[in-house]
Amino acid sequence: MNVAVVGAQWGDEGKGKVVDIYSASAKYIVRFQGGNNAGHTLVVNGKKTVLHLIPSGILHPGKICLIANGVVFDPKVFFEEVEQLETAGALTAPAHEVIRVSERAHVILPFHRLLDRLREEHAAKDKIGTTVRGIGPAYEDKVARRGIQVIDLMHEDVLFKKLKSAIEEKNILLKHYFREPEIEIAPLFEECKRLGEKLKPFVTDVRGLLIKALAAKQPILFEGAQGTLLDVDHGTYPFVTSSSTIAGGIMTGCGVGAQAVSQVIGITKAYTTRVGTGPFPTEIEETEPDTAQLIRKIGTEFGATTGRPRRIGWLDLVALKYAAEVNGLTGIALTKADVLNDFKELKLCTAYRLGASTLHELPSSISDLEALCPYYETIPGWGHYDAAKIKSLRELPAELQNFITRIEKFVGVPVVLLSTGPGREETLIVKDPFSEV
Ligand code: GDP
Repeated sequence: MNVAVVGAQWGDEGKGKVVDIYSASAKYIVRFQGGNNAGHTLVVNGKKTVLHLIPSGILHPGKICLIANGVVFDPKVFFEEVEQLETAGALTAPAHEVIRVSERAHVILPFHRLLDRLREEHAAKDKIGTTVRGIGPAYEDKVARRGIQVIDLMHEDVLFKKLKSAIEEKNILLKHYFREPEIEIAPLFEECKRLGEKLKPFVTDVRGLLIKALAAKQPILFEGAQGTLLDVDHGTYPFVTSSSTIAGGIMTGCGVGAQAVSQVIGITKAYTTRVGTGPFPTEIEETEPDTAQLIRKIGTEFGATTGRPRRIGWLDLVALKYAAEVNGLTGIALTKADVLNDFKELKLCTAYRLGASTLHELPSSISDLEALCPYYETIPGWGHYDAAKIKSLRELPAELQNFITRIEKFVGVPVVLLSTGPGREETLIVKDPFSEV
């Protein structure tokens, strides 16, 4: 039984915590897309760990964490994270035994970070709002067939040739467009060789390893990063990330067939947030600024990667239904319900108004998305209750049960996990996806 966890909104849904919980049942935990622009915050025994690249399953002993082909891999960040985990005493075995990196993953180099920053600075008000970690430029090079893969770091002649042609082109851009100093190949070549040498013990054929794990029926957890509405094909383009964040990204990112994934769990908060620019139909920053401020404060809605305040809005059921379709969700993990405790009433978006029309689906055009006006259903809040005493959905306050049922009915997917706090213990597992047949 293999399970995928994907963000069903614009990221920051609390995937880190859910992946951490499901990791207990898995042998392998796999990142299949994105790079260190993910920011998973885990709280275990009151201790906070933020991971950007290494799968969140790493905090469980005996698990093997994989970074698959579809990830863009920053070796510098990787070694920083490994060191952070080692210093925290979080690893129960040598790092290279529990973390494996695909030889085919594309490498993020310093010039990718530089170009990411320069593009965002030059875009001024048309910024995408990237994390400026070089993710987009690294994916660009990959698709343009001029990327450098992990395996290239271990082959000096290939590495030099690829670096040379990459740098020649980047230097034209740097010198003539951005008016910045050019890159020198020699120090970068030396640094890449050094990192390649250091990486050797971690590097493997991750795809092959997964195929063997599948044949041996060892449980696998696929860990998505960012969220469905940030998917490069199915998100609110161009305000998206550069990879396939949806469940389909597992097939391309890992090189395993669709039958490799049996359950797809979409993570959604009980409300919505979005970092950076781009359309956000249920945003309440202007219409209900006090409520937005309150949710941001209670939910500590500030980016784990960038520290940016997240934009706040009500839960958008139309967008969630879209996420369910795009990913083929089999379950929903509802997080941060506790943030809305004691709210007198809550809103759920069930349709949009666009001019004189009522829409029941997300439109494709970015200007239509920006012009949408949500239709809300207002429902009573659930006050306060002792989450620690709750062992089943039926024991929840009636209003919270009603909130959950409304989501399930609208989206057509059951809520299989309810999270009511950042800690592992603050979780109600309604149905364990690893035990589903
Ligand atoms: P991810 O990128 O989807 O993993 O999202 P984050 O790591 O940014 O998670 C959001 C934040 O919410 C983190 O600080 C988590 O510790 C926290 N968190 C996760 N689930 C819950 C929850 O149910 N309630 C509360 N209050 N916080 C949560």
